[in-house]
Amino acid sequence: MQGLSLAAYACDPARSRGRRIPEPAAPTRSEFQRDRDRIIHSTAFRRLVYKTQVFLNHEGDLFRTRLTHSLEVAQLGRSIGRSLRVDEDLVEAIALAHDLGHTPFGHAGQDVLDDCMKAHGGFEHNLQSLRVVDQLEQRYPAFDGLNLCFETREGILKHCARRNALLLNAAEPGGVAARFLTGGQPSLEAQLCNVADEVAYNAHDIDDGVRSGLIGLDQLASAVPLVQHYLRETLGEFPTLTGKRLLFETIRRMLSAQVYDIISATDAALAAAAPASTDEVRTLPALVAFTPAMRAASTELKRFLFAQLYRHPQVQDTRVRAEQVLRDLFAIYLADPCQLPADHAVSADHPRACADYIAGMTDRFALREHLRLTGHSLF
Ligand code: MG
Repeated sequence: MQGLSLAAYACDPARSRGRRIPEPAAPTRSEFQRDRDRIIHSTAFRRLVYKTQVFLNHEGDLFRTRLTHSLEVAQLGRSIGRSLRVDEDLVEAIALAHDLGHTPFGHAGQDVLDDCMKAHGGFEHNLQSLRVVDQLEQRYPAFDGLNLCFETREGILKHCARRNALLLNAAEPGGVAARFLTGGQPSLEAQLCNVADEVAYNAHDIDDGVRSGLIGLDQLASAVPLVQHYLRETLGEFPTLTGKRLLFETIRRMLSAQVYDIISATDAALAAAAPASTDEVRTLPALVAFTPAMRAASTELKRFLFAQLYRHPQVQDTRVRAEQVLRDLFAIYLADPCQLPADHAVSADHPRACADYIAGMTDRFALREHLRLTGHSLF
C-alpha cells in the first residue's frame, strides 16, 4: 500500500464499480492489487517478453520488448501517480496490461492483422488487450479471462472505434466502452498511463535507435530542440562525456523533465477543476497532460522518430517481411482450421479465432509457425 492517502479524485479500490462476476474481497490485498497480480500471472503477460516494439526480438538482446516497455510505463506511471496521490496499484495494473493485446512484430503486426480482418470486424490492439483480460485467458475455474475490475478494464481500453464501442456497449450497457459514445474521459489513473506510455516509448526508442546505429545522437539533437537542450546541459556539466553515458544521461534528464512537467501541469489542472470524485473526473476534459510547451516538444520528438527511425529503410525492410509472415499465417489458418490448435479450431467465429491465435503469438513463435506451414524462412 502507498504511504500517502489517496486524493478525493483518485480511484478508491474500496469503491470500485466491481468485477463482471462478483467475487469475495481478498483478505489482505486491495481490488486493484489483486488485478495487478492476476495480470502478472497471466500467460499473455509472459509472452510480452518475446514481442517487440520497433526491433524484432532476434535483432538484439538489449532492445526493448513489450515486457520491458510495460515495466517502464509502470515505473513512470507509479512515480507520477504517487505524487498526484492517485491509486498506484491501479496505475501499475493498467500499465502492465496495456499492451497485452499487441500482435507479434509491433505495429506492423497490428496493421496487417487489421487488414486481414477487414471483412470480419477488423483488429484493434487496445480492444484485443481487453479481449485478453475479459475472455482469452483461461486460468480460472469459474470464468473466462481474469475478471478484472471496471477501473482496470476502463484503463486498458485506451482507444476504441465507434463501431466497436457500439458492440461492446450493447453487451455491457454503460460499461467500459460507453465513454467512446458519450465523449467522457477515463479515470486519472488511466489518463496517466496514456501519457506515461508516450514518455516511455519516446525515450526508449531514442535509446534503442541510437544504440542500433540507425539514428545518431547528434542528428537527433540538431533536429529536436528537446534533445539538444538536455545534451547541451549534460555536456556543460560533463564536457568530456561521450558514447553510451552521454546518451543515457541526456535521456535521463529528458525523462525527469517530462515527469516533473506532467506532475506540475496536472497539479495545476487538478487545482483549477477541483474534481471531488473519480466520477467527476470522467465528466471533465483530460486533466493529466504536459504543459503546452512540453506537448509541442514531445510532438516534435515523435515526428523525428517516425520519419527517421520507424520509417528507416532497415526497419521498413523488416516490417515488409513481418507483414508477409502474418498474412501467410492468416490465409493458411483461415483456409484450413485443422492447422490451428484444437481449442481455436472449433470457434463459432473462425476468422476471429485466427486473429486471436496470431495476435497471441510471440515474434519467434510466429516465425517458427510460418516456417512449419510454408517451408520458407523470411528472416
Ligand atoms: Mg505501450
